[in-house]
Amino acid sequence: MMKPNSIRHKGLSFDTLAVHAGREDFQEIGVHAPPLDFSTTYPTGPLEEATASMDAMANGGPPSGSFIYARLHNPTVARYESALASLEGAEAAVAFASGMAALTAVLLAVRERGKNHVVAVRPLYGGSDHLLDEGLLGHEVTFVAPDGISAAIRLDTAAVILETPGNPTLSLVDIEDAVRQANGVPVVVDSTFMTPVLQRPLELGAAMVLHSATKFLGGHGDVIAGIVAASEEWATRLRKVRVATGAVLHPLAAFLLHRGLPTLAVRVKTAQDSARMIAERLERHPQVTSVHYPGLAGQDPQGLVGRQMAGPGSVLAFEVAGGFEAAGRVLGAVQLMVSAVSLGATDTLIQHPAGLTHRCVTEEGRAATGISESLLRISVGLEDPEDLWADIEQALDQAEPAREAGHARATTVVG
Ligand SMILES: *Cc1c(COP(=O)(O)O)cnc(C)c1O
Repeated sequence: MMKPNSIRHKGLSFDTLAVHAGREDFQEIGVHAPPLDFSTTYPTGPLEEATASMDAMANGGPPSGSFIYARLHNPTVARYESALASLEGAEAAVAFASGMAALTAVLLAVRERGKNHVVAVRPLYGGSDHLLDEGLLGHEVTFVAPDGISAAIRLDTAAVILETPGNPTLSLVDIEDAVRQANGVPVVVDSTFMTPVLQRPLELGAAMVLHSATKFLGGHGDVIAGIVAASEEWATRLRKVRVATGAVLHPLAAFLLHRGLPTLAVRVKTAQDSARMIAERLERHPQVTSVHYPGLAGQDPQGLVGRQMAGPGSVLAFEVAGGFEAAGRVLGAVQLMVSAVSLGATDTLIQHPAGLTHRCVTEEGRAATGISESLLRISVGLEDPEDLWADIEQALDQAEPAREAGHARATTVVG
């Protein structure tokens, strides 16, 4: 039998790593669950040693002695980072207080003297689009379609940012092609919808992979967090930004994220099977005018599912006949699905991107990427898919304008 502390050795499968990563020393230290350290400050010991450790961490390196202060280093967070790094096949990972804090750190870390331009492939998560579009961090941003990356690259381009599948339309970007087009400029991939179970962008040439760990990595709707996996060189720059700007992950959040890793693959695969079934049935529903899901026939012309991604994931979007009003009626009629933003939780969430998550994207930005008033996004959870289907079917029936008045259909769905 494999000893727990031998798991860093090559040849272990992803599922095995997900169970054991970041736990290699448990036998040695005599625990069975990750130790949770809430210290904000640490005894410093001899001043010369403490000063050296301080210098090391301020430059984004690991502590060489005392951890000094929890904004510089926390062992519970570091454990989760090392676990996620192994699952992404990265040298290191750096965790942040939220996905947006992670993106902010990336944007600050890629910036160098004279390099202040970012190429961003639309669509992006609404908050990411907004942060870039507002120029809040002082970058100049060019938004492009996936085939427009190379034409947008300039001498002062610091990074290319893309999301695949894109939030909320599930449009796919070929990561290897983006890396080719970027021609040496670092490519940052937001892989939130996939998790390392379904996609590992670093293996395809990306410089950094970013997650809103609030979503599938957390998986239970009770943690807000972000993480970036990359080379040790990029991680050093990211830690330096984190020390200086302070958007650290709380150790309890890191503990919960680490606790969720062993079940990550099981959750992702189960939800994906249900999403595929729901997407196929939605496609045949008369009230539904279009369905966006990379697992549907004809929706992956580049053949990325199976090559770049191990599967299409469990987020889908669809357009309902009747525009904004009909979409609102669907949201008001679901009983089992929860009408709420966010995604990747154990329960199924449904929301209206144009009205909520992508409200802060400009109208042209929304129009260019198909974020219409009739679009609804579903993050499929772990319920029985037949119960989910019964719920969305009765909600769609109630959304039909002709039947709206006095239409009270009995339903067997529990709420
Ligand atoms: C939610 C989300 C983010 C932002 O993450 P927070 O944890 O909410 O800050 C970034 N990218 C994608 C794709 C997301 O879905």
